[in-house]
Amino acid sequence: MSNANPLLAILSGLWVSTRHFLRNLSRFARGRQDFAIHFPEQRLVQPPALRGMPVLVQMDNGKERCVACGLCEWACPTTCITIYPAETTDEVERYPQIFDIDMARCMFCGLCEEACPEEAIVMSRQIEIASYSRRGSLWHKQDLLVPVNQLKTRTDYLRRNYDR
Ligand code: SF4
Ligand code: SF4
Repeated sequence: MSNANPLLAILSGLWVSTRHFLRNLSRFARGRQDFAIHFPEQRLVQPPALRGMPVLVQMDNGKERCVACGLCEWACPTTCITIYPAETTDEVERYPQIFDIDMARCMFCGLCEEACPEEAIVMSRQIEIASYSRRGSLWHKQDLLVPVNQLKTRTDYLRRNYDR
């Protein structure tokens, strides 16, 4: 239906809402409860491709996999990543002394994940990141680290789809 006429567009929208309302009402009258997800007790089934908040991969030795190259910071369109590199004495040579992501500005685009040559930052399945203050949306390295074995769904997906 064309939305050129504003009245038709309003009626069209109202019809969609009414149709859903009547369908759900009819299901409710028949004793069915499956038309709504009772969040947070119930959760939606998350598809493998889900992009939740970006997190840092923590290796089995407890350290971050990140080598502070800065590519994710450069790729981020909202400049919400801040990295301060520092030197290490081992063969890795660099690590992020500071690695912050401002989740209030992150739009879960996944460009940081695509840019990373080390598979050190990946999109997790975490989507609930509310906070009570603006400061609370700033996640630091210790908040962002997630053990590698908890990120298997995403890393498997990346290797399959990005030909890694
Ligand atoms: S998901 Fe997108 S917006 Fe968020 S930190 Fe990564 S590149 Fe930036
Ligand atoms: S691109 Fe990867 S390795 Fe480089 S700074 Fe970002 S997370 Fe670390």
